[in-house]
Amino acid sequence: MESNHVLVVGGGAAGWSAADALVRSDWPGPVTIADPQSPMNRTLVNTGVLTGLLTPGQIARQAPAGTELVRDEVDAIEHDGAVRFRSGNLVRPAAVLVASGSAPRPYADQAGADGASTSERLTHLHSIEDAQRVRTLLPASGGSVVILGAGLIGSETASLLAEAGVDVTLVSRSPVPLRRELGPVMASALLHRHDAHVRTRLGHPVRNITAGSGSAVIELEDGERLEAHVALVAHGTVARRPALPGSREGSIAVDGRLRTGLRHVYAAGGVAAVRTGGVSVRVDHWEDAAAQGAHAARSMIHDVLGGPDPGEYRFTASYSSRIHGSTLTAWGATFPGSRWTQPIDGTAVAVSTHGRRATAVVGLDAAGTVRTIAAEIMAARQNDDGVADGAPG
Ligand SMILES: Cc1cc2nc3c(=O)[nH]c(=O)nc-3n(C[C@H](O)[C@H](O)[C@H](O)COP(=O)(O)OP(=O)(O)OC[C@H]3O[C@@H](n4cnc5c(N)ncnc54)[C@H](O)[C@@H]3O)c2cc1C
Repeated sequence: MESNHVLVVGGGAAGWSAADALVRSDWPGPVTIADPQSPMNRTLVNTGVLTGLLTPGQIARQAPAGTELVRDEVDAIEHDGAVRFRSGNLVRPAAVLVASGSAPRPYADQAGADGASTSERLTHLHSIEDAQRVRTLLPASGGSVVILGAGLIGSETASLLAEAGVDVTLVSRSPVPLRRELGPVMASALLHRHDAHVRTRLGHPVRNITAGSGSAVIELEDGERLEAHVALVAHGTVARRPALPGSREGSIAVDGRLRTGLRHVYAAGGVAAVRTGGVSVRVDHWEDAAAQGAHAARSMIHDVLGGPDPGEYRFTASYSSRIHGSTLTAWGATFPGSRWTQPIDGTAVAVSTHGRRATAVVGLDAAGTVRTIAAEIMAARQNDDGVADGAPG
């Protein structure tokens, strides 16, 4: 084992931030990021590359200063902490962070369809290559896209494409998409925005898709047939990960300090399900992944070097999305079985409460109010706990 060598698996939001935090904290050993691809800002795949505003080079990120980037994929982490690479290499770092992110949920998983003949016209929107493929398949005049799934990425992409003159149809099995993530009031408000700007088929399961060389044909359960240049599958994500002893599929379960249970092996970001308040929560958003990465670095410093205990991870990151001219702002995380309330009559703001505690706040065109309520929630928690959220120690 190389003394104090840390291996970070994946150079995305979580891995990059962890490696950067370790170097900035004067970690006394080499910090290596392993990733078969170049680190990049994935949030710009649709807003930047799909729209043509940015080139792939412009959304790439350099590895943090003071770290080494190895272009290799990690296949497995063994019982003794040894890390096995696709190339056949085997290393034994002092600590490992798994930050391998997520992959798009496969189409057949959720649509309940008979299965689709795959072609390039039936695609996800997760990688730079996906965005470039969609651009190539759409004619200069705009063309048409059917988006399957009206979650955050489906909604944002529907808005971006409609603005660019593409004929968009948004299809979802759920009649009120994002109800769990945003609460019923905000989800309905978003739905009205979609209705005003794109063709919607919400509450319409897909029966079948045939994607050929010239078009994709989507058949809905009610018999309606939608034909488009491209069918985009946006059914959310699932963890993408190397094998770990005792946990070979799905998200990697971690405790509040992002420990996997294997000695000095941690997980953060879209690959991790964090145990907090008696439940496991997986969040796949950029800022939250970066915050988890930094927290995992602090846990490593505590466990390996005897640094201060960072405490339990708290979901206090935010995200925003521009959809049909409105800005959706959200802070925190929603937990299974949460209740939604509207704290201020007449404003498009909702708060999610789990047990006694408010855990998330969302708003449409209400970024300032969301920030104020989030600050109030954090202050109330600090009073309850005597510990500042997100602060180490
Ligand atoms: C189109 C799109 C738009 C989005 N927009 C937003 C947005 O507006 N706001 C927001 O908050 N979030 C957004 N997200 C989600 C956000 O990008 C993710 O939540 C975030 O990137 C997760 O960070 P991560 O570090 O967990 O994973 P990633 O950033 O995906 O990084 C994971 C890295 O691990 C590498 N990797 C995978 N497996 C291995 C392995 N076995 N060995 C080595 N390396 C491996 C991958 O190549 C990748 O580079 C968007 C996602 C997409 C797809």
